[in-house]
Amino acid sequence: MSRVVVITTGGTIATSTGADGVARPTQTGDDLTAGLRTDVDVEVVDLMAVDSSQLTPSDWDRMSAAVASAAQAGADGVVITHGTDTMEETALWLELTYGGDMPVVLTGAMRSADAEDADGPANLHDAVTLAGNAHARGIGVVVTLAGTIWQPLGLTKTGAGFVGVDVAPRERRRVSLGELSAGRAPRVDVVATYAGGDAVAVDACVAAGAEGIVLESLGSGNAGAAVIDGVRRACAAGVAVVISTRVPGARVTVGYGPGRLLVEAGAVVASTLPPPQCRVLLMAALAAGEPVGDVFAKWGDVPDVRPATVR
Ligand code: ASP
Repeated sequence: MSRVVVITTGGTIATSTGADGVARPTQTGDDLTAGLRTDVDVEVVDLMAVDSSQLTPSDWDRMSAAVASAAQAGADGVVITHGTDTMEETALWLELTYGGDMPVVLTGAMRSADAEDADGPANLHDAVTLAGNAHARGIGVVVTLAGTIWQPLGLTKTGAGFVGVDVAPRERRRVSLGELSAGRAPRVDVVATYAGGDAVAVDACVAAGAEGIVLESLGSGNAGAAVIDGVRRACAAGVAVVISTRVPGARVTVGYGPGRLLVEAGAVVASTLPPPQCRVLLMAALAAGEPVGDVFAKWGDVPDVRPATVR
């Protein structure tokens, strides 16, 4: 019988709704796994019980440490239960920094544990089954939700569920920058752009000590003149600026004048990777001391992103 460690961190999969109508994490790992029908031997580690909006990079390190302990103790696989709001960020950080063969499967839920149509139990069942399957060895870090197995790179939560790259039908391409500490990684901020925006946010991030900025640019990689000036100042000060876009699913091509000026200022193009994951990739690239342009040329373009297909 294979042995899987379920590490809980909170999220909707563990929430019930209070008398005030607010959903809060209340379910322990034992509660979540009590009804599991599987021939896998399950062990629980209750690591955290928070809404995933509260997680910080240091918490990613706590998860990495729990994964490492499970591997050292000889587990065949690990499942991490997690809120969906920031799952794409945690999953990508773990993917970038975990090189082991033991499968690490993140899962969560879109509906509370006390909902009549709760999706958590089915998602957890899928995750435990996958993590305990001998054929999953070497798969690295994946996310399973709603019957789909996603690679972390390119995963995005949308109003209608997740979009990303379903790895089940294809060879898994792992993305790695080596063992790194998220808590000690340089500060990287995401800056929004909009009609009439100025450089206050860019300048403030630099003043706050950011070593990287992800510009959530307009369209295919544009920004107003004042923002471009701010990017020029940031790049001249040695801050790595990456151009992403605020348009879901769009590609940054910098084919217009303002985009060209951003590149001339020293900014790097992220192609299709959404801003929250650009931030994680930039943090890891800076922490690893890798050239930012090379890292984004390699992984900033994610082909085959699709909505979930329920099998
Ligand atoms: N707010 C929740 C969280 O991210 C949402 C969810 O889990 O679906 O923790």
